[in-house]
Amino acid sequence: MSRRKLAAGNWKMNKTPSETRAFIEQMKPLVADTESEVLFCVPAIDIVPAVEAAKGSNIEIGAENMYFEDKGAFTGEISAKMIVDAGATHVIIGHSERRDIFGECNQMINKKVLKALEAGLVPVICCGESLEQREQGITVDWIRMQIKIALQGVTAQQVAGSVIAYEPIWAIGTGKTATTEQAQEVCGAIRVLVEELYGKDTAEAVRILYGGSVNPGNAAELFAQPDIDGGLVGGASLKPEFEVIAKA
Ligand code: PEP
Repeated sequence: MSRRKLAAGNWKMNKTPSETRAFIEQMKPLVADTESEVLFCVPAIDIVPAVEAAKGSNIEIGAENMYFEDKGAFTGEISAKMIVDAGATHVIIGHSERRDIFGECNQMINKKVLKALEAGLVPVICCGESLEQREQGITVDWIRMQIKIALQGVTAQQVAGSVIAYEPIWAIGTGKTATTEQAQEVCGAIRVLVEELYGKDTAEAVRILYGGSVNPGNAAELFAQPDIDGGLVGGASLKPEFEVIAKA
């Protein structure tokens, strides 16, 4: 089965609403003819301007995070329904910065995945090991645990339409990329896990991304691996050079 590649940007806490408009306008012609799907996940305040600027183009807009409740006294949070109403289609869930800096646990991430799917959003479910865990030789066990918990209660059809992003923590924003072998090994192990849990068709349909210092120079080799269906890109998604990654 051939899965369509996905080039997804994660802007993190960068770009104001006016910078967002200008950047999306700049990117539109650059990625207009890409075969891969192009997605920018942006700060909550940038979703509406990004959606407006991307209108009529092949650029999709996602959120970087959401809360799992529908509404209520959750100061500072946004709901899945708000993201959908703002016109976004995807949401990153369980990024390592959310886990490490904001204390999100696997159970919380599972609740967010379920709520995102219920609202009709495509969750981009992140997993990844620390350098210490890699050195201890527990990378694949750790990733399997993270994904198993994130997918509790999720149906095969929902998994098939979801995105899983493998992002070794030691490679995020550090300039240290996993080798293609390391990235393929873990992305392959995730596909094996999805097959164990949901069967072959689901495993062949789900898209698995690599993230961690992807740049125009290394993207093509990473994305050529059999189990890597594109990238989740932080720093390099803030610049027009993202065009090269989207075309890789
Ligand atoms: C990320 O934040 O998801 C990421 C992979 O960042 P970077 O590409 O900057 O390493």
